[in-house]
Amino acid sequence: MTNYEAVVGLEVHVELRTKTKAFCPCPNEFGGAPNSNVCPICLAMPGTLPVLNKSLVEYGIRTGLALNCEIAHYCKFDRKNYFYPDLPKAYQNSQFDFPLCRDGYLDVEADGYRRRVGINRVHMEEDAGKLVHGQGKGNYSLVDLNRGSVPLLEIVTEPDIRTPEDARLFLESLKLILQYLDVSDCKMEEGSLRCDANISLRPSGSDILNTKVEIKNINSFRAVQHALESEMERQRNLYRSGGCAVQETRSWDEEAGMTTVMRSKETASDYMYFPDPDLPPVILTREKVRQIKETLPELPASRRRRFIEEYELPPYDAAILTGSPSLADFFEECIEGYHDAKKVSNWVMVEFQRLLNNNGMDVKEAKLTPSHLVEMLQLMEKGTISGKIAKTVFEEMFATGKRAGTIIEEKGLLQISDESQLTGVIDQVLAAHPEVVEDYRRGKKKALGFLVGQVMKITRGKANPQMVNKLLLGRIQ
Ligand SMILES: [Zn+2]
Repeated sequence: MTNYEAVVGLEVHVELRTKTKAFCPCPNEFGGAPNSNVCPICLAMPGTLPVLNKSLVEYGIRTGLALNCEIAHYCKFDRKNYFYPDLPKAYQNSQFDFPLCRDGYLDVEADGYRRRVGINRVHMEEDAGKLVHGQGKGNYSLVDLNRGSVPLLEIVTEPDIRTPEDARLFLESLKLILQYLDVSDCKMEEGSLRCDANISLRPSGSDILNTKVEIKNINSFRAVQHALESEMERQRNLYRSGGCAVQETRSWDEEAGMTTVMRSKETASDYMYFPDPDLPPVILTREKVRQIKETLPELPASRRRRFIEEYELPPYDAAILTGSPSLADFFEECIEGYHDAKKVSNWVMVEFQRLLNNNGMDVKEAKLTPSHLVEMLQLMEKGTISGKIAKTVFEEMFATGKRAGTIIEEKGLLQISDESQLTGVIDQVLAAHPEVVEDYRRGKKKALGFLVGQVMKITRGKANPQMVNKLLLGRIQ
């Protein structure tokens, strides 16, 4: 039986976090009472004139540069004409034949392999409003235009993706880059990042391009992978039964786990593009682009590599730590105050991340700062507290924002390293469990662990574990 491979291209829409909308002074904010954040321009009243938001162009250039694109010296806006109730102008300001950025790429790295995905173009456009469909009784829809004219970038890849999993990995890498660039909040649940996928199949190893199908309404990266897997299977069955795919737009139904037909696919000519006469072309000098390039932050891939080289961290740690710009910043601030990068990495990756996740918080919202962690690590190193107690201290610092020293004092958590005090406890344990001591002497070495555990229990975890081990062995051997 013929094996098939997928040919996948993605179209990603990103809402930019500029202060105002694309062509008017309305604040660019999510939510609000329906139709409260609008003005004559974004409502498309006759006689109004749009003015291009400079930040939209700058954010577009930042994104294009980060995706290794060429930035156009000349680009322009075109009207994409279509009728839909959420679009009062009956056209969307978009870019057709002269987009802002072209011919870039993004390298997707995962588990030791790298796939280069070409970026066909990045262009600027505006968002449409939103339809809210009537619930229950009544067959109606309401129009909310708060989202109308919110600035968007559309990022279009080449059909270079070969598996549904690589599609998800591409989107994860892209989202991380956008977060590092700070051009979008990338909240998929609020629609700031949306993705459509094009997929066709061909016999593995061939280079033909078969008819592609577009999938819309995909709400998460995981759903992108699932939708593509499901569509691959549908098309594979078509080809194997002697049929072929037809060009159409399908909708992903998350609950049913399958795609369904939405409409036959429009082509560019259906939109009757023409240059927007109200918006002059955008001319960019090399100097302007160079200035913006100089403000780009270190991007995730190079930061990850630097973490491995500079701090000698395992690739796994480096990937987790650089998985959010704020977590990577937090880690590097700790490193300025404490020498052992791997130790810092463990606390940040495991305990800090766990508490953030449990509380649904972002790094910046945490009361626990890098200097909290540094102080605690120094106290551990001095033997003031044990590793076990440190966990309690860490949780307390996270919950209250108090310093480690204060918590240790308030809760009486100092590590017991006083030999006579520990000997007293050990004697007590040995007297209470003579049979376990006998077991140990008869060769059951595991019995030692039980005795250590008992000492820890009595001292509420404060005993210095190395000393307990040493003292216990001295008594029972
Ligand atoms: Zn407006």
